[in-house]
Amino acid sequence: MIVRVGHIDYAVRTFTRDELRDDNTAWGRHCVEDPTIKIDAGITPREQATILIHEVIHACYYAAGQDGDTLGEEAVATMLGRMLAGVFLANPHLSAALHQGIHHGKAIVK
Ligand SMILES: [Zn+2]
Repeated sequence: MIVRVGHIDYAVRTFTRDELRDDNTAWGRHCVEDPTIKIDAGITPREQATILIHEVIHACYYAAGQDGDTLGEEAVATMLGRMLAGVFLANPHLSAALHQGIHHGKAIVK
């Protein structure tokens, strides 16, 4: 699955074995260099949905040029409201994948 956030198209995929060996604490990761959102295939579909949303939020901060520590609550709500509306507008398949993971236990990544 591809998820467009701002100007970047991220490939959503699982971690490789080597990546899992390097960092066995993360369930997800957002990488700009090789635009990917990586999600642990070994967690439940509902957790995969949660991690995917988490990583999309990191991608929103990046696309909006924010470092993550300087915005207050109202600015965060405004930025994420606009960015996430754009994400769902650009990715109609994303809400379907999240729905399948959250409501029907269907893995987002395998
Ligand atoms: Zn994070």
